[in-house]
Amino acid sequence: MSKALVCSCEDVTVSDVKHAVSRGFCDVESVKRYTGFGTGICQGKNCLSAVAALLEREKALKPEAVVPFTPRPPLYPTELRVLASAPVDESQPPVGGVPQELEHFASALRPEGSVPAKAKVVIIGGGIMGLSLAYNLALRGETDVVVLERGYLCAGASGRNGGGVRMQWGTPALIELAKRSIDLMKDFARDLGVNVWLRQGGYIFLAKRKDVAERLERNAVLHNKYGVPTRIITPDAARDIVPGLTMKDCLTAAYNPEDGVIFPWAFLWGYAQGCQKRGIKVETYTQVTGFETSNGQVRKVKTDRGDIACDTVVLASGAWSPEVARLVGVQLPNEPHRHEILSTEPLKPFLAPLVSVLDTGLYFSQSMRGEIVGGMGDPLEPAGLNMGSTLRFVKRFAEALIEQMPQVGSVKVLRQWAGCYDVTPDNNPVLGRTPGLDNLLQMSGFVGHGFMMAPAVAERMAQWMTTHESDELFTRFNLRRFAEGKLEREDMIIG
Ligand SMILES: Cc1cc2nc3c(=O)[nH]c(=O)nc-3n(C[C@H](O)[C@H](O)[C@H](O)COP(=O)(O)OP(=O)(O)OC[C@H]3O[C@@H](n4cnc5c(N)ncnc54)[C@H](O)[C@@H]3O)c2cc1C
Repeated sequence: MSKALVCSCEDVTVSDVKHAVSRGFCDVESVKRYTGFGTGICQGKNCLSAVAALLEREKALKPEAVVPFTPRPPLYPTELRVLASAPVDESQPPVGGVPQELEHFASALRPEGSVPAKAKVVIIGGGIMGLSLAYNLALRGETDVVVLERGYLCAGASGRNGGGVRMQWGTPALIELAKRSIDLMKDFARDLGVNVWLRQGGYIFLAKRKDVAERLERNAVLHNKYGVPTRIITPDAARDIVPGLTMKDCLTAAYNPEDGVIFPWAFLWGYAQGCQKRGIKVETYTQVTGFETSNGQVRKVKTDRGDIACDTVVLASGAWSPEVARLVGVQLPNEPHRHEILSTEPLKPFLAPLVSVLDTGLYFSQSMRGEIVGGMGDPLEPAGLNMGSTLRFVKRFAEALIEQMPQVGSVKVLRQWAGCYDVTPDNNPVLGRTPGLDNLLQMSGFVGHGFMMAPAVAERMAQWMTTHESDELFTRFNLRRFAEGKLEREDMIIG
């Protein structure tokens, strides 16, 4: 054991880095996430080169594969009130952003050797959906499964989200899925041996407009019908739960004490580890490049490390799903939309629930590490796969947060980043068989709530795939509904 520090902000030692490598987390992005190095107040300025040198010395990677992690703005830790006063023309849409994240990962990171020549099930996408499905298939005895991920685990939305988990939805299907997911999350550490830091501090939704207040009231009745203890509370009662909220212009609030937050990265690692222990291959830095089809079936999945013949293919590529589907001639109605998010320096615990202003999509919570983590949607954001960060976002977010909670103005932002929501026309997922390509299964379109849906959806999907019993979920959310116009819109979208 070496107690020599490589990252003094986050107390990461040489041994911690070696431990990450021994668990298969060898590239800089993965080591950063696994150990936490570079996520503290120095933003990686003091530790990145030490970790890179250590990885090279440990021969964890080829020298050309030791590439720095993506730098995150702001350049220096910056107070929210300074960001709120940034000169930004808010009438202009948020085009561009820095850094423009690479669509292609360094080829030196690609593992040597080919992918398996055949597998019963190939899952495209090593995000929460793909990994949780693979794990659930293994639990049901199906281990001839390969998961293909073009980057590192956590490269997609699953590694970029706010970790919010809530039962407060507008439709019975999502309420029930979220309830089941949260139950599964409670047992995650026992079942998978990884602590996902589930903290059930509740969610408080605030409403400023009358129509939004009515939506909260209507949905609370639905929640209670499905056993979710949401209650409508006055602005004063909300301030009792979160002292310091100004409640400016708020008409009402909805509170479910059983909602909460989790730590997303650990969740992915838990499922990936659970898959690997059961013999499932999770192939990172392996990109799907095409398909071979005949007689209405996908026969092979082509990758940059060889082809895999298979019986069933699952498309779980998040915001990239339309792009991957096009490779096999399938049109999905999903659209990627950038959503930005940030994290501050850590503070002592002061905020139990996640607070969201439903009118604007502002949300903020406090992580188990003490950081304020929050985001806010942007009505001017154009569709597209863009993961750059903008000054416009931090300005809008900081203004909205300070309006709600002025005392956080002097808290410093350490990092901002972005990911893509995988948006469908009715804000509901695309699941089940693909018309015309029966063995291509869809598992995408989870907008801004896939993380909290994954455990329950994966459980049902694995059951449906292995038993062939019918399950209405895969009919209700089938791709066909868009052509047939059978849409039931989900209205509790934030971010
Ligand atoms: C800023 C932000 C905040 C969010 N907050 C929350 C929240 O609080 N709670 C919540 O439940 N959800 C939240 N979400 C949504 C949630 O993160 C997603 O719904 C969920 O992670 C989607 O999981 P996925 O596995 O479908 O997609 P992803 O995690 O994006 O995984 C898809 C994977 O497919 C890979 N891939 C793409 N193309 C290929 C290819 N050709 N070959 C191989 N692999 C490929 C990608 O690299 C990616 O890793 C948020 C999302 C964002 C962006």
